[in-house]
Amino acid sequence: MKVLVLGGAGYIGSHTVYELADSGAEVVIVDNLETGHLEAVHPAAKFYKGDIRDRGFVDSVFEQEKVDAVIHFAANSLVGESMTNPLKYYDNNLCGTKVLLESMVAHGVDKIVFSSTAATYGEPERVPIMETDKTEPTNTYGETKLAMEKMFKWTGKAHNLRFVSLRYFNACGAHKSGIIGEAHSPETHLIPLILQVPNGKRDAIQVFGDDYDTKDGTCIRDYIHVTDLAQAHILAVKYLMEGNESSIFNLGNGVGFTVNEVIEAARKATGLPIKAVVSPKRAGDPARLIASSDKARTVLGWKPEHTDLEEIIASAWKWHSTHPDGFEKK
Ligand code: UDP
Repeated sequence: MKVLVLGGAGYIGSHTVYELADSGAEVVIVDNLETGHLEAVHPAAKFYKGDIRDRGFVDSVFEQEKVDAVIHFAANSLVGESMTNPLKYYDNNLCGTKVLLESMVAHGVDKIVFSSTAATYGEPERVPIMETDKTEPTNTYGETKLAMEKMFKWTGKAHNLRFVSLRYFNACGAHKSGIIGEAHSPETHLIPLILQVPNGKRDAIQVFGDDYDTKDGTCIRDYIHVTDLAQAHILAVKYLMEGNESSIFNLGNGVGFTVNEVIEAARKATGLPIKAVVSPKRAGDPARLIASSDKARTVLGWKPEHTDLEEIIASAWKWHSTHPDGFEKK
């Protein structure tokens, strides 16, 4: 099996490539390296540097590589930036996907697994969130991901293309080898920011709000290990290869942890003190986001292996403690 991974030098993309390579698949990576890292590219994968908005480039990849399926991670994903620069998100996420789909249709590539997000739901009506729940994104990032899902749906109907959209909850952790991990610039996610404290990169972690209607007043999220997410992509490719119909799946552990619980688990995982200070709420943060992943478990046969938060954070710490500057060499 030969799989084209768009955005395969990014955080979730690179971890998926590592799992794909372990499963025996042949992997081709496309990444423009705007946010991805060359060092995260798997040594056994064939790498093309280029942008999916460039039709000539995308066509040339499909002409050179006869792929069975595409996994699409190539998008911008910072919620805050998506609110201050929405058109960047429409351009890269939507225009990029449009060009990609045109080229896939032209080259007869008819299977795609797509990196979506819990941000497609917006403020949930209930938890755990089901795939059938209403989708009303509260930020441009979620809106563009939802629009990308719709683009797959309608293009699929017209051109006989099938897709699986995977809506991730809070991706975290790092590869067991400690060779690759999370490296965003700027970093906005809770666990890497917490680990900057024991790494001596920041004095304290800010807790964004402590008067939410939750057990300790801090926000609840569903943290899912990146390797478990990666495995779900492999199962989704298999699902499409077996001829199954297009579908959307949530990916989470189905268990919620508060920000304070995550900080406490990080203290245990690192064995180091981590100072926390309560700060103002971040705009648009729902109090609680927890996935129902029953559909992925039943239909795809997905079973997350990393369910212990302390163990998940320990895997992140293995990476961050040895790469305090991410992939940058200092
Ligand atoms: N959060 C926090 N301090 C930070 C970063 C995040 O308290 O410095 C909180 C944030 O309000 C949310 C949770 O941690 O409740 C997870 O945030 P993250 O940005 O990692 O993921 P999101 O849930 O926004 O996708």
